[in-house]
Amino acid sequence: MSLQEAQHASYQQTIVRPVETHGIGLHTAVKSHVRLLPAPPDTGIVFRRTDLDGFQIEAHIRNVARVSYATSLMKQGVLLSTTEHILAAIYACGIDNIYIEIDALELPILDGSAQPYMEMLDHAGLRRQKRHRTYLKAIKPMEVSDGDRRIGIYPSSNFRVTCFVDYAHPKVGRQEVELEVNSATFRRELAIARTFGFVSDFDDLRAMGLIRGGSLENAIVLTADDVMNGPVRFPDEFVRHKALDLIGDLALIGKPLQAHVVAHKAGHSLHTQFVTRLLANSSVLVETQAQQSAQPAKSHLSPRFSRPAHATD
Ligand SMILES: [Zn+2]
Repeated sequence: MSLQEAQHASYQQTIVRPVETHGIGLHTAVKSHVRLLPAPPDTGIVFRRTDLDGFQIEAHIRNVARVSYATSLMKQGVLLSTTEHILAAIYACGIDNIYIEIDALELPILDGSAQPYMEMLDHAGLRRQKRHRTYLKAIKPMEVSDGDRRIGIYPSSNFRVTCFVDYAHPKVGRQEVELEVNSATFRRELAIARTFGFVSDFDDLRAMGLIRGGSLENAIVLTADDVMNGPVRFPDEFVRHKALDLIGDLALIGKPLQAHVVAHKAGHSLHTQFVTRLLANSSVLVETQAQQSAQPAKSHLSPRFSRPAHATD
């Protein structure tokens, strides 16, 4: 990491200018407009329901509601669903402070990946703020499990994620991805990986009031032995999307992480149980201001997201 980047990594960041998009929710099929706005230091990532007088819901684990096929936040009875893809893009890009205005109860699914949100952030640009950033650094391991599903956190000099899935389907099977998480690696390895679903689950999901907005344009649909709407973007697009979801749920920690998180056949429910237990366990994470990097990782040498081509728009 160059000195400039080290200095950069030690300060909080927000976006330069407002950007917006719109689309329909995967589960509700409700149309919504989303606008991202710069926020002052120490704000964190905060959703604002503009249809409810700007009611604020902080992207923090204390506001997690029921979690099954997507991560939902709930505060004083106000719900906000499917937060994980936009949060993954924001968290991976090292954005500390941002307002996310939305005029409905579910984030748009767009193409099912985080790529449209990455493009929004490119247009927004990143700006360093005059306040030091605080990382949460793992100083000892912690694991949670549920049957053969488990998630662990381990000390690491940077933020790493390993994700493993195992689906008894000829197009999926066992897949694993591991990466250091930053804007460059997220953009290259995970951002375009889409949501997926199995046709065999659709009736049950619809009966639960879910996936009303699902279509061949916003999810990979798996039949009994094939992909209905191929080609896939990567042969292992499925595990890449799971890693994207994991990063979006880890954003609910509320601060950047300096740790290695390993998820084995996990999903939103276990992700959020894990984050809850992690923050309740005072001996695993310590606050630190500078990101220590014993061995500078190659991806640290990539240009930070803060210098997009659109910076002079
Ligand atoms: Zn997802």
